[in-house]
Amino acid sequence: MSRIVIALGGNALGNTASEQLELVRETAKPIVDLIAEGNQVVIAHGNGPQVGMINLGMSTAAAAGAIKADMPFPECGAMSQGYIGYHLQNAIGNELRTRAIHKEVVTVVTQVLVDENDSAFQHPTKPVGAFYDKETAEKISREKGYTMVEDAGRGYRQVVPSPKPIDVIEKNAVEALIAAGQVVVTVGGGGIPVVRRDGALYGTPAVIDKDFASEKLAELLDADELIILTAVEKVAINYNKPDVQWLSRLTPEDAEKYSAQGQFAPGSMLPKVQAAVMFARSKKGRKAIITSLHKALDAISGKTGTVVEM
Ligand code: ADP
Ligand code: MG
Repeated sequence: MSRIVIALGGNALGNTASEQLELVRETAKPIVDLIAEGNQVVIAHGNGPQVGMINLGMSTAAAAGAIKADMPFPECGAMSQGYIGYHLQNAIGNELRTRAIHKEVVTVVTQVLVDENDSAFQHPTKPVGAFYDKETAEKISREKGYTMVEDAGRGYRQVVPSPKPIDVIEKNAVEALIAAGQVVVTVGGGGIPVVRRDGALYGTPAVIDKDFASEKLAELLDADELIILTAVEKVAINYNKPDVQWLSRLTPEDAEKYSAQGQFAPGSMLPKVQAAVMFARSKKGRKAIITSLHKALDAISGKTGTVVEM
């Protein structure tokens, strides 16, 4: 029996509520395969399209006067955790019942600590929410203090920083639920970023990379394995080129060499490789696997996927 943190990528979820509810029924199967084998499974996930949709919906409603005020970004993140968590609870719960496995699935709305002095706060990089014309963007920037930038010729958007996760605030609650035999969904969308000021925590508009947040969670829970499930079965070098080479094993040293060569796309494969290396190096015996959703069980038993270990 292993303790496994699974990080679900965008392809495990969906772009609309009905599409997502359908898709997570498939997502639930490999997850329940791992549970059925006796593993302790904790699930983390991304939230890009979902938080974007909530943020856009709220700002459109506010601009039309249908609701009184804009919804702050951390609150949008919290809503996305609840929405995605509900779908995963529903789908994984149903799959467990089908197989007569008596466990409950529970979502923990999760705050993740970041450092206000993280240099990311000086360089916001993640575009979020609606597109505006220049004049409106300048007005929003003056009134709300948002950083607005021109996004690929499509208009102006708010950009938020992407700081590194330091701690998962609710980690002991997650631990208690795992110990009680429950299946936990947590750090959704990388967690709601909070900063500490005079001992209190405050939500801050930022996006924590879900691969880094999942890695932090896996360390804090002393997990044996971090499994990053995405759209590809293995990590490659010379990806999308005729001489593509799919990797079954990747040492931290090789990962660094290939990263320096620009083999892994920033914002997609690079953070996964970095998170996997970080986890593999964090303690002897820990291993990370990058593979696709439907190969999760095969990857765990060593048949496929890219294994990153010391
Ligand atoms: P997720 O939603 O799971 O985080 P991303 O789209 O952010 O997924 O990242 C996974 C994608 O990274 C893959 O679908 C693949 O197209 C891309 N990718 C970029 N570089 C590589 C590489 N070297 N090897 C494999 N996949 C890569
Ligand atoms: Mg991604």
